[in-house]
Amino acid sequence: MTEQGQASADPEQIKPEQVSAELTAFVQQHWDADMALRDWRELLLQAGWAVPSWPRRWHGRELPSWADELVAGELIRLGAVGIPVGSGTWLAAPTILAHGTDELRDRLLAPILTGEQTWCQLFSEPGAGSDLAGLSTSAVLDGDSWVINGQKVWNTSAHHADMGMLLARTDASVPKHQGITYFALPMHQPGVEVRQLRQMNFHASFNEVFLTDARVPRDNVIGAVGAGWAAALTTLAYERRFSALRRPDYSPAPGRALDEARAEAEDHFATYSWYPQRAGRPDLVVEHAKAAGVTGDPVVRQAIARLITMHRASTWTAERARVARAAGARPGAEGSIGKLAASNIARESAKVHSMIAAAGALLTGPESPLHGVIAEVLMSVPGQSIAGGTDEIQKNILAEKVLGLPAEIRVDRDVPFSQLKHRG
Ligand SMILES: Cc1cc2nc3c(=O)[nH]c(=O)nc-3n(C[C@H](O)[C@H](O)[C@H](O)COP(=O)(O)OP(=O)(O)OC[C@H]3O[C@@H](n4cnc5c(N)ncnc54)[C@H](O)[C@@H]3O)c2cc1C
Repeated sequence: MTEQGQASADPEQIKPEQVSAELTAFVQQHWDADMALRDWRELLLQAGWAVPSWPRRWHGRELPSWADELVAGELIRLGAVGIPVGSGTWLAAPTILAHGTDELRDRLLAPILTGEQTWCQLFSEPGAGSDLAGLSTSAVLDGDSWVINGQKVWNTSAHHADMGMLLARTDASVPKHQGITYFALPMHQPGVEVRQLRQMNFHASFNEVFLTDARVPRDNVIGAVGAGWAAALTTLAYERRFSALRRPDYSPAPGRALDEARAEAEDHFATYSWYPQRAGRPDLVVEHAKAAGVTGDPVVRQAIARLITMHRASTWTAERARVARAAGARPGAEGSIGKLAASNIARESAKVHSMIAAAGALLTGPESPLHGVIAEVLMSVPGQSIAGGTDEIQKNILAEKVLGLPAEIRVDRDVPFSQLKHRG
């Protein structure tokens, strides 16, 4: 058997049991809970177990895509640790793999997969959210680096990121989608100022990022100069897969690697602690109704049944999409359907919780309904309909891409960006 094993010999024929068996043998031979987490992840990278569906040159084994989820789950089941969870592995890495040069893939992918470098997404601006292609942060080439000026906003985790997925305009003389370039921006430099924003639910998970003569090395361009929109679409397609942010259930056993992995997850998921509430907590409605003594109320019962039905149907749609991806399909329109369904469920769930708690839903603190969780649900649910593309934008995508309806009228599409009046 080669170092990368039989599983890589004939990827088309490979069976999940075979992959599990090879992985188990690898873990039994190499895993030591007392080693440094980084050293363990280096071993995963070298053996191609980091992202098994990726090319061999970039830490994979060219296995079918279902192997990624299988291996991630098996590593945890075996008491070991896989690659980190976060914007780096979720968004930046697949974008770099799809659009980056070989040099960028060699340089940027490994530190993402070992957890050495974390990433944030620097797309939205005060004047460009849904209309992302209307962004006005500029990048000008100056010798060996690009000089960046502008402002970004709503940038989750930018306050502790090492690198940023930055969209900036490199050519204003062409229509808006054509003059955008996608950069890998080093965050720790004097030209990058990150200011945390306090949300109405009291958390502070995103930021404003001010870029003043910030520098990006000349070669840190993901995709060609002026072709950043295509790379941005790849990132956005992956962004609709929120399940990629699921917290790994690491073994509670002692050991340096496990301690470091648990600390890393703790740190990372602190930012996302309100995300379950953002999804409306449909899982809590029955418990909430029982605690409030309203399970006999026919109106409440109807509302709960309706919500649970929506939730189940959406879970099945998500499962269908997961199976399609495991079979090798790239993320597609089902991401928009899932995202829209998640917004509807979150809103409906907030309504049902309010119906159960009545005026008590407005109270926060330990003595309020479900110890303040319900108040946090009400304040967090609006975010579900905005993050990763608003409900209206998902509806536009579905209308055009799935239903084949005529495209929305976009009068600014073919005009050079510099001639758009509202940009002046
Ligand atoms: C929790 C959370 C996390 C986020 N994380 C990040 C991040 O890490 N990085 C990042 O770059 N951004 C991030 N964002 C920003 C997010 O992508 C934007 O908020 C979103 O794209 C909407 O843009 P906007 O806020 O500018 O609203 P706008 O685009 O100004 O929209 C305002 C309203 O107009 C509607 N609208 C706009 N255009 C149309 C249209 N063509 N048709 C119909 N209706 C329309 C919208 O649906 C919305 O209701 C995050 C946002 C949230 C809530």
